[in-house]
Amino acid sequence: MLDLHVHLLGHNDREASRETIAAFLDEATRRGLKEIGFADHDYYWDQMNFPMIREVAEDYPHLAVRIGLEAEYRPHEEGRIKNLIEQFPFDFIIGSVHEFDGWVFDIPEEEPMHWKKDIDQFYSRYFEIVTLAAKSGLFTTIGHFDLIKIFGARPSKDILALADETLTVVAEQGLVLEVNTNGRYKPVQEFYPERRLIEDIHRRGIEFTLGSDAHCAGNVGRDLSEASQLLHEVGVKSLVGFSRLDKVSYSLD
Ligand SMILES: [Zn+2]
Ligand SMILES: [Zn+2]
Repeated sequence: MLDLHVHLLGHNDREASRETIAAFLDEATRRGLKEIGFADHDYYWDQMNFPMIREVAEDYPHLAVRIGLEAEYRPHEEGRIKNLIEQFPFDFIIGSVHEFDGWVFDIPEEEPMHWKKDIDQFYSRYFEIVTLAAKSGLFTTIGHFDLIKIFGARPSKDILALADETLTVVAEQGLVLEVNTNGRYKPVQEFYPERRLIEDIHRRGIEFTLGSDAHCAGNVGRDLSEASQLLHEVGVKSLVGFSRLDKVSYSLD
């Protein structure tokens, strides 16, 4: 019913145009979504066109069209992110970690490194950085919570223990986590986060939103009905959308 993580600009391989915006909103309509949230990567800031999204959205009165941002969290760049967030009345802000200590770990070229490095060590380090992201107060949402598993390298330590402190902070800060279905199309072939984490997150009272992480219109809403079903099975009663940084609740019953 909602998809709060789509990339209009993809990997900066297209421009924001009325046609591309309409293609995303048409697909959202076709899939029966009530809310869609654009969240392009902050490093394409200069290519973003929020007024154009607002204009095209007027032709889709049945759809809540939200404007967000997926910000790359690096501990020493909190000021840079804050500055971006202040430049527009965003509906939501996703904080994501795709990189730490200079290692951009989620690109295909880096897959061999996942098998060469100490897996327990880099999982711990990843969650340390996500904890800092959660503490920063900059975000409404943490993106793809266990992205570090992307190539299928698994730690020997229990993932619930590795993520424990991070989730404590996420709960304290009232942050929302997404079920991001894009992981199914990566080597790990499962949603972010995995089911055991979803159960643990729900037990802690942390709320969920949904995101396809679509980088093209055709993938808007992909597998989200399955993700909703999974959340329902786990006992989640509602999902969270956002309007001007305030939570909007959607019943899952
Ligand atoms: Zn991401
Ligand atoms: Zn994304």
